[in-house]
Amino acid sequence: MTFPEPVSASAIQSAKPVSPLRLHFIDVGYGDAILIEIPEGERILIDGGEAAAFPQLRAALQQRNIHTIDKVIITHFHSDHVGALPSILENFVPLSSNGSKNIFMPFKPESSALTAPLKQHAVRIVRRGETLMHTDTLQISVLHPHTLSGNQNEDSLVLKITHGNLRFLLAADADPNAQKKLYARYGDALKCDLLKIPHHANDSRVFAPFLASANPQIAILTIGENHYQAPNEAVLALYQAQSETLFRTDRDGDITVSCDGHKLNITCEWV
Ligand SMILES: [Zn+2]
Repeated sequence: MTFPEPVSASAIQSAKPVSPLRLHFIDVGYGDAILIEIPEGERILIDGGEAAAFPQLRAALQQRNIHTIDKVIITHFHSDHVGALPSILENFVPLSSNGSKNIFMPFKPESSALTAPLKQHAVRIVRRGETLMHTDTLQISVLHPHTLSGNQNEDSLVLKITHGNLRFLLAADADPNAQKKLYARYGDALKCDLLKIPHHANDSRVFAPFLASANPQIAILTIGENHYQAPNEAVLALYQAQSETLFRTDRDGDITVSCDGHKLNITCEWV
């Protein structure tokens, strides 16, 4: 499925070659594992799903011939985001030899299965306004959090990826309070082509101006069996109504978004 950007004369004149980029929303059940693949470049993993999903995640990486992850971004420390990360760190992430920091997070975890593995890696705490990657055509920046509330979902790391003319908003598990803060800070600058739906549509409400500002063409729901009765159907209907197309990992399997900076092409494992 291809989603062309409207082409205008000025767009043609200003269009310059953009290195392609792929985002894989890997089906790890209820949880997040998002791989950013820059061909001939770095592999960045955002979260890793539950511990029990590690075999699925490993298989998905191996299928794509990926044996090394260069950077890991941890949005927060709930098990559906970090359960598999000790195994990922052990098997896929080389120890930093030059001291450069390759693990990013908004705050340090409480004591957990990750504490010991993380001690061996170079960790950087990142907050709103910081940039994790910046090239001519690709930027990964942190939109949230600024200060911490103490609630993991509210404090989870929200990222904006700008690739050429395209914008991706990866909203982690941002709850309505976080959505409100994002809207207060960024307003219409939240506009994106693709939104990773926050918190698996598991909150009972959405901060409506957040969704109206993001106004995505494509929404992606990372979901599987769960005990929370997620997604909340009323909330999901709002995302569905605001976006042109909604993909979900429980129905579509792994969702791969390929982009050249001007248009998106989406392929799903099971469709
Ligand atoms: Zn989650």
